[in-house]
Amino acid sequence: MSKRRRTFTKAIMREALARSGGKCEAQGVWYGLPSGQRCNADLSKGVQYDHVVRFADGGESDLTNCAAVCIACHKHKSAKVDTPGAAKTKRMSDKARGIKNPPKMQSRPMTTTPKAAKRKATAASKIPVPSARPLFEPKG
Ligand SMILES: [Zn+2]
Repeated sequence: MSKRRRTFTKAIMREALARSGGKCEAQGVWYGLPSGQRCNADLSKGVQYDHVVRFADGGESDLTNCAAVCIACHKHKSAKVDTPGAAKTKRMSDKARGIKNPPKMQSRPMTTTPKAAKRKATAASKIPVPSARPLFEPKG
């Protein structure tokens, strides 16, 4: 099996653009459009080539997975679908490998006011310290 290409070849991009008829090929909710609706924006103002199924999710860099889309559609899908999807894919694969976030440190609620703490400290300092015991019995 040949190595998968991450990017479309120029030939594929040319074919996708020709197929588009110069109109944005983005379609449906992934691109922020009503389901089944095609954008059809004029691509002469700017065109980008989008992997309909992300490369990371197994999408090939071939003509069937290449959409000639307008900048707005590409931006929308990148921000709303591809990036969160990538994060989710990462989380899922982490989960499968037993990689998870360490438990959150719970900060201890402050139970005493600074004044009460000072009073407590003062009281402790008043407890008589027992006289030190000799560490060694002096030899007689
Ligand atoms: Zn569009």
